Amino acid sequence: MLPAGSTIGILGGGQLGRMLAVAALQLGYRVIGYAPAGDHVAADASTDFVTANWDDTAALLEFAARCDVVTWEFENVPISTVAALPQALLACPLRALEVAQDRFHEKQFIAELGGVPAPYARVESDADFAAALTAVGTPGILKTARDGYDGKGQWRIGSALEASGVRLPGVTCIYEGFVTYETEFSVILVRGRDGTVRFWDSTANLHDGGMLTQSILPAGALVDAQVPAARELAAKVANALGYVGVLTLEFFATRNGPVFNEMAPRVHNSGHWTIEGAATSQFENHIRAICGLPLGGTETRFASIDMRNIVGDAALTAHQILAEPGEPHLHLYGKREAREGRKMGHVTRVGHALK
Ligand code: AMP
Repeated sequence: MLPAGSTIGILGGGQLGRMLAVAALQLGYRVIGYAPAGDHVAADASTDFVTANWDDTAALLEFAARCDVVTWEFENVPISTVAALPQALLACPLRALEVAQDRFHEKQFIAELGGVPAPYARVESDADFAAALTAVGTPGILKTARDGYDGKGQWRIGSALEASGVRLPGVTCIYEGFVTYETEFSVILVRGRDGTVRFWDSTANLHDGGMLTQSILPAGALVDAQVPAARELAAKVANALGYVGVLTLEFFATRNGPVFNEMAPRVHNSGHWTIEGAATSQFENHIRAICGLPLGGTETRFASIDMRNIVGDAALTAHQILAEPGEPHLHLYGKREAREGRKMGHVTRVGHALK
């Protein structure tokens, strides 16, 4: 167990790091963030923040020397960066990042554990793309195999004719069949150092343009019926990786059962509701897990939950939200610049308390 006063290193500087830092400070830890230059809102909530490139080995080792444990808030931290750190400092094995950074590796890994991903094929060239269209069919989605998030690096392909006008981006891609689903949902779990696994309730997740906009509880009968199988898979993934901390798996609830979409080896936007809505938040339980503290309960505290992202210009929205009845819980991330499509904050509205 890491005693209070120990230092947690967080790779990445976005809102997830900020909310992890708040939870860590509450438990008496110090936090040092690390990320290349940028608008790092985690820095505001951290004891210290190192701005250096991912490949700056000297800065990384200096950072490591000041930390008692290291975690990440961003799954695209280069593997070489994490590999350069003393491995004993990592709360969670590097393999979790390796699997999650490559959509092929991830889908193969999931299929080996008995999960069902959408049909897919690798695309390196125009010939591969033509073969993939034949094998998988249309409609589908072409995605870069690496570095995609929030719908970036993705192109919807409605028909073979549409595909003929597509210029490949010049990096390895994956072509996936478009899944017809009723709802999207995620399984968020925390796994402790001793292998204990706890799950939060699964919300129904709504997306716009590939980006999460809203998470809702109750998620509905279809999702609820598919959660046990999805949890079983998520626990297998966590156990196979020797995972420590919060892990998220995203699914499509289809008429034929849960189809795996992707995993995030970190706290997740669809778990923000847990700050007010669950006995212990995803952020606090991640910190508890990586520090070897007892995990907190994950039960939902309210009959209904509605979490919505605030995207783009947040100022006016914030004023309106705070004037609403029903005590909405507003979180703004302190980003200096509002841009179209940028997550600026979120608001969680809860229903009546559960006994
Ligand atoms: P991803 O970055 O892979 O999670 O994709 C972002 C969002 O795009 C997902 O949450 C879905 O809303 C949508 N999407 C991605 N892949 C598929 C697919 N194969 N079929 C249907 N919708 C998809």
